[in-house]
Amino acid sequence: MRELSVYYCSKCGYYGYYQLERNAVCPKCKVDMLALSISYQAFMDLPCEERDELLSSQIIASSSPYVKRLLVPHKVNNNREIIARMGDRITELEIENEKLNKTIEWMHQTIWEMVRKNKGLNLSDQEESQKGIDP
Ligand SMILES: [Zn+2]
Repeated sequence: MRELSVYYCSKCGYYGYYQLERNAVCPKCKVDMLALSISYQAFMDLPCEERDELLSSQIIASSSPYVKRLLVPHKVNNNREIIARMGDRITELEIENEKLNKTIEWMHQTIWEMVRKNKGLNLSDQEESQKGIDP
């Protein structure tokens, strides 16, 4: 029989024990869970707080550099679920921010086009009126 391994979800902090990697899917997030580097037995021997701390550091290690920078100083005071949820939220905000930046870029472009078009129209208006003056 294969040994159990500890797997955890980096999105919500859920963890469980599985023999096969393909079975390690988070029941809440439906994403593949990641294997912990320590053995099942070593994990079972840890008290709850140390399990949380170990998982917290794993979740931080697998998140984006931005999340890492933000969370590392606080990890001692946080439990894994808060860290996972914050990390997830920050990723959401990063994506949202990127979308907003793209929208602003697009708006700038559109405004500039409008300004250019307007100038163009004014120019041809002048040309038109100059033509009118000519006998
Ligand atoms: Zn999950």
